[in-house]
Order: sequence, then C-alpha cells, then structure tokens
Amino acid sequence: MVHSLTSAPPGAIFLWELSLHRHVTSHYAHHEIFTQVGIMKSKGIIAALLFLFCSIIVFRYIEAKKAKGRDGDLAVNKEEKVISYDYGELKFDVPIDALAMGKDSFVVWQKNFKSQYHNMVSNSWPWSPELKEVRLLEDNEKYKKFQIDIGYEKSCPLFNSSSGGILAIPKVIDSSKPIIIAIHGHERSTWGKHPLDMLDEGQWAKTLVDNGYIVFCPVSMHHEKIKEYGSKSGYLVVWTKIISDYIDCLKNEWTKHPHNGFAVVGLSAGGQISYFLMAYRDDIQKGFFAGANQPLEFMRREYRAKGHPECWDVPAIASYTAIYSLLPPRSVRFYLGKKDPFYPNMEKFPVYPWFDGTKRDVTTDEIYGNFLLLKEMYKIRGGDIDLIIHDGGHELNGQVAADFLN
Ligand SMILES: [Zn+2]
Repeated sequence: MVHSLTSAPPGAIFLWELSLHRHVTSHYAHHEIFTQVGIMKSKGIIAALLFLFCSIIVFRYIEAKKAKGRDGDLAVNKEEKVISYDYGELKFDVPIDALAMGKDSFVVWQKNFKSQYHNMVSNSWPWSPELKEVRLLEDNEKYKKFQIDIGYEKSCPLFNSSSGGILAIPKVIDSSKPIIIAIHGHERSTWGKHPLDMLDEGQWAKTLVDNGYIVFCPVSMHHEKIKEYGSKSGYLVVWTKIISDYIDCLKNEWTKHPHNGFAVVGLSAGGQISYFLMAYRDDIQKGFFAGANQPLEFMRREYRAKGHPECWDVPAIASYTAIYSLLPPRSVRFYLGKKDPFYPNMEKFPVYPWFDGTKRDVTTDEIYGNFLLLKEMYKIRGGDIDLIIHDGGHELNGQVAADFLN
C-alpha cells in the first residue's frame, strides 16, 4: 500500500503551506532582514516548491491508482485478459485407471499423489513461523475470544505482517466435537488481517461457536508480500501452507481443550483452501465447503478478477479433482446455491468495476461432472460425500455446517 504521499489530504497540504508562510513573515517582522524583493523571491521559490510537491503527489496518486486492483494489494497485470497459463507446467491429473480399475488402482494413485502433493505444499512456502502471543480479547458468559499472534523471522516477506488468527473457545466444551478451522472467502476484504468480523453476531463462524465448537479463524490470503511464491506454486497452495503452519504453532493450545480432531469449514476461495488443507493434513476429519465448486479451467480462462488474475490457479494440476482425490474416505459436504454465479444456469457472470464479466457460465459438465468424479472416488474408497443444492446465493449457512459436523 502506498500511504506516505498519496494519502496526504489536500487540507493537510494547505496547512503545511500556511505554516511555511507564517514562519517566513514572522522572521521578517522580527529581524527585518528581507527586502521586499527578497520576500518576493522567497515566495516565488516556495510557490515553485509547492507546485513541484503537489505535482509529485498527483503523479504518484495516478500511478498508484493504475497499479491497484479492486481494493486489493496485488498489482494489476495489464495483460491479465490474456491467458498466460503454460500447459507445459501440468504435472498431475487423476488417471482413468485409478477410477475404472477398482480400489487397488485408486489407492496406488492416492498414495503416490499424496506424497507429491505434500512436497508441493511444503515447498511452496519455506518459512517456519513461531507462536508469539495468545491475547484475551473478550470473556463473556458463553465463550472466550483470543487474538493469536504468530511471527516470522526477519528475512521472511511476512515479517511484521499480521499472522495467526482469532480463536473462540466456548465455556462448555463437548469433547466429541472437532475443532473447526473456519476460512473466509476472497470476497471479504480482510485479506492478510486478523478476521475479527468473522465472529460478529450473525456471521457463519459465530454460529459455529454458538453451537459449542471451538473455532479458529486464521489470517488468510496475503497477496503482494507472497507474490513470488504464489505465482510459482499457486496462491491457494501457499495460503494452505501458511494456515497449516499456524495450526502446528498452536499445538500446545489444542491440548488444553478436549476435542475430537479437526474439521474445516470455508466459503468460496476459503472453501477451496479448506479442501486443499484437508488434502494436506491427515488430522482433519470432516470438511464443509460452501460456494467452492469452481472448476479450475473456467477460472483460468474466464474468471480474471482485476488485480487478482492468478489467485485460483495451481500450475501443476489439470483440475481440482486431483486435490479432491486425497479427501476420501473422510466425510465431506459441498454446499451450492441456485443463485450462486457458480451455479450452472447459462447466465454469464456480470460486469463489475473489479471484473470484466465472463463470455459464458460454468457448465453442468464442469460442476456436476467434477462432483461425480469425486463421488466415484468415495464409492471406491468408502466414506460419505454429498452436494447440497440450496435456494440461496454465494453463501455459507453456519447452522447447516454445524449440524453436518455434529
Ligand atoms: Zn486475490
């Protein structure tokens, strides 16, 4: 973010000008050093300097505007409408025989890809953070709320950036319930910050706390600072690694509260991070993913949010199906609204200031075909999976998620 010059309001510049003027004139009154010509020359120089100063501010403001996306911090690529994906980078696609030749073939694929995926995520972000502070923010009759601060070493791009999350611990804990990792979507502009508003009244993560779950809302979706790593391995992959590291940093905290493993709940890109995280960590037993059925190829070709053209891309995979394949036999539920733009109904995505729209809608082949592949994997490997179609939009119902995880 450019704060220093561009954020100085015109009023501040005017006050600064006035104070300079006062200084010069009082100097004159007390010491009578300047002649009238001298004063005029001084004023001329000050005016010239002010003009120069204002020009720099205006120039930098225009440049900063050009370099910003919607309200994000990822610099706009002017060629973002051009598909830049290099298909030569593809490494992983679920082979047909893993699906058609029965359990043994599938287990072989799953085992091999699991270790490759593990390396992909582990290597995407090489930094190891440390827990700094667990700070009590609120203590009411129903729960305690903490801010978790986690820190990186000086050489890490996230040194001194917000890291960690918000943790809510209900006063009455049911040890049969999992701890929930709750991940917000990309549409929330709390990128790279402690997402305090996720626990506001009426928000889905707060509903999970009200249902007696321990809920951790991690800081997620850093952009510009991790650009080098996100562009290389995929932002979803790096965001997954960062959250996984936070969970590890809190291992002593988890032992204080009786619980039954972990579950992930996420909305939109947060739902995608949720299944990426579940695929990466064996200790996550259940997953609830809302508005997260996005097909990768559609995102690559069509969904080019200004300033965020690559946030959903993972160069190594042909589709998210490869990541899905690591979920069975653990229970998962997908939750998709009929009014969600990612619901296939032949309507193109509309134009917004931050988005040029799409040439087509997602298709049933992409959305349901993708789901059927995953369903087939669960048939082979065992476990529960379903897709709930609801009447709402791109949203997550905390009560539906709480009931599913119970
Ligand atoms: Zn983004």
